[in-house]
Amino acid sequence: MNNNTGKTRSTIYFTVALVLSVLLTFSMCSCGVDTSSVAGNVSKANVSEDTDSNDAGGKDAAEDFLADIPDWSGYAFCYVNGNAPDFRQDEIWTSTQESLDKLDKLGRCGTASSCIGPDGMPTETRGDISSVEPTGWHTERYDFVEGEALYNRCHLIAHMLSGDDAVPRNLITGTSYMNRDGMLPFENAIAAYVRETKNHVMYRVTPVFVGDELLARGVHMEAVSMEDDGEGLAFNVFCYNVQPGVDIDYKTGDNKLSEDTTALEEYQAGKYAMMAATLGAIPSETGEYADSADQEGQVREYVLNTNTGRFHYPDCSSVGAMKDKNREDVEATREEILDRGFVPCGNCNP
Ligand SMILES: [Zn+2]
Repeated sequence: MNNNTGKTRSTIYFTVALVLSVLLTFSMCSCGVDTSSVAGNVSKANVSEDTDSNDAGGKDAAEDFLADIPDWSGYAFCYVNGNAPDFRQDEIWTSTQESLDKLDKLGRCGTASSCIGPDGMPTETRGDISSVEPTGWHTERYDFVEGEALYNRCHLIAHMLSGDDAVPRNLITGTSYMNRDGMLPFENAIAAYVRETKNHVMYRVTPVFVGDELLARGVHMEAVSMEDDGEGLAFNVFCYNVQPGVDIDYKTGDNKLSEDTTALEEYQAGKYAMMAATLGAIPSETGEYADSADQEGQVREYVLNTNTGRFHYPDCSSVGAMKDKNREDVEATREEILDRGFVPCGNCNP
């Protein structure tokens, strides 16, 4: 069990680092424009600024996808496919690289894929991105919006993960809310995981545009850690491109103050706030951030990996890949397993 103690300490460190990074980034300003120097050392495929004549991922695909997404009801994101990422084998890379779809004929971004590794993370602060004007861009400000500007230039693959600055194929118009409350906690989780483990994370962000709308309805974000088959980190979520208190026309990005102030009041009262302390690796299951009260004290079957210090539901795909000598089947409460120093698998989120 000596091995486990070390693992526990490292996990605690990871969680603390994650919480700190979430808090720090929220309190700094993640989305303003700074003008310091640029470092991007990820090898990149396809980053020229030509546009694509065919309209990949068009109307039908977006509408099909959104048909399964609940309307926004206060949480910044929802789970997709039970939070399990959905990469095909040929969509997965195991070394650090990035690919950004060409802009379509309306100038809109497509999918951004990246294998995030420690060698691709920037060592310098972000450069000026104000030269890029993504589709749907407007400059309205509201005094109740964090940072005041309704819209941010949102990186699909965050600068902190890629070093990307003013790359048009990687920047969309997104609300301050989507950027900070939706995407940022997941970006921070990837960054913290890669920094801590030196492992790679396969990551894909797809903006979802309906028809010929210029403003995305949101972004679909998927990630899976490579060296441990998703044990350390895995998620599949959709972040809503909305702003509490503002009505948005997705066709153009035009916006105005909402007459109904309920959503803004609930948001300001913290009703749907993501608690950094409960983030752990990634919140699980229902989107109602890590509220596991309903299963507290319930005895059930779990599978422990005594090598990695993770625990799983028995039907998790990672269990099949586990070596027998590392496997321990238990019937216990979640709390008992946590007390032994095990942490939940990022894939099955037990
Ligand atoms: Zn698992």
